Amino acid sequence: MLKAWRGMRGLSQLSLSLETGVSQKHLSFIESGRTVPSRQTLMAVADGLDMPFRERNELLLAAGYAPQFAEESWDAAGMAVVRHALERMLRQHEPYPAVVMDRWWNVVMANSATTRLFNAFVDLDRWPRPRNLLHLFFDPAGLRPFVPDWPRFSAALLQRVRREAVAGVMDEETQALLAQLRAYPGVDDTAAFEPSAPDLPVIPLTLSDGERRLRYFSLVTTVGTPRALGPEEWRLECMSPVDEATEAWHAAVIPGALLPPRRALHRLVSTPNTLPVEATMTRTSSRFSDYVFSAQPGYDEPTLREAFSHAVPLTSVVIYCYDPRVREIPQAVAKFLGNQVYPGDVILDANGSRVGSTTTMGTVSVAAGRAVDAIRSVTVGEYLFGIETVVVVHHSNCGATSYTADRMVANYAHEHDGADISNAYDAGSVSISDYEDSLAYDVALLRAAPGVPKHADILGLFYNTDTGELTEVVRNPAVHG
Ligand SMILES: [Zn+2]
Repeated sequence: MLKAWRGMRGLSQLSLSLETGVSQKHLSFIESGRTVPSRQTLMAVADGLDMPFRERNELLLAAGYAPQFAEESWDAAGMAVVRHALERMLRQHEPYPAVVMDRWWNVVMANSATTRLFNAFVDLDRWPRPRNLLHLFFDPAGLRPFVPDWPRFSAALLQRVRREAVAGVMDEETQALLAQLRAYPGVDDTAAFEPSAPDLPVIPLTLSDGERRLRYFSLVTTVGTPRALGPEEWRLECMSPVDEATEAWHAAVIPGALLPPRRALHRLVSTPNTLPVEATMTRTSSRFSDYVFSAQPGYDEPTLREAFSHAVPLTSVVIYCYDPRVREIPQAVAKFLGNQVYPGDVILDANGSRVGSTTTMGTVSVAAGRAVDAIRSVTVGEYLFGIETVVVVHHSNCGATSYTADRMVANYAHEHDGADISNAYDAGSVSISDYEDSLAYDVALLRAAPGVPKHADILGLFYNTDTGELTEVVRNPAVHG
């Protein structure tokens, strides 16, 4: 094994001896198997040959020693430092694609722009994990039909596989991978290599389906001072747009950050629906900021607000009791109003991400359906979606009609070590003794609230818990002008 490596590095025994301080004679004995070297000597020689960690482990094992370099799992505590750095770089490269790959071009991590880009051309779900980037490009069922200058691009990619092999070594797996790629029809990496874009100092990747033409070049980053197998072998590849059209496509499509326009959306899922069980078990990034719109690169509040109003077309808020006997109230109100969609459908994008809904009604479910608990929700709804109608519903046989505010204050103090809630809540909102009064009170409370838009109609409805019938009791129409 050592002799083969020495040959690969083009070193004579003498020059390797000078390099490592191990005598030429000793080297010769080691190579011929006449001497079993000490572990220390073996590692000195491996250093001199610039062997990658994985191969050093094999060398040690062959000589009867334990391997030196751990194959630490991605989740190992010590690996978190590297993992977080890579996650940060992936995130910072949004809205442009970036991936982390292992030694054999298997994608270990990817940012959301990558998924979106590839899914714009192929159905990624059909590709088994780990997804191999080279197979994804070379397989005729993959991205290859969308690469217009395939002969040149594939030749350049195969050159990269050789050039970027860890420590310049084509290990067996990489050679096997190359053989698999060459076995795809129409792959010829001996093709004369001409620059496809003479105006560029890089070889661009172009993806085109006639409608779109996206062009990128890549920067590759490696860990500077690795001490374990993974970090030595991982590479971060960041794809950057070459032209404005590509930049614009990503600016428009990026999304976790910006919800896509509704016409671009794919599927509707009828509600009620539940998330697949494994979704609750998926380990994602440990950093929840991935899920915060304002923490996304390219975040722009006005644009996002506009996108929200399209993605979720809420126009009304319904406030009703959390009593489980009356959970059909929102459906009943939608029917009563006639112009509302509830529960509607969840809209999925091509990745299966939940990016919108057809529902027009937001619901606020609180004790007795009292407006006091819902005003903030109306304000947020108005800000994000634009609210035209606010509906308060109180229902027959509501638990809140079984006590008075005074009794609750007194009993609460008695039962909770004298806790005083007499001034904690608006006394008029605590219980219900008369439905016409409670509905009038709530409609007036909403109308007087500065966070409830003047242009909204406010309705107070009575719901019969047993028959499901709704009766309009109070209406406070929009204030115009
Ligand atoms: Zn109730």
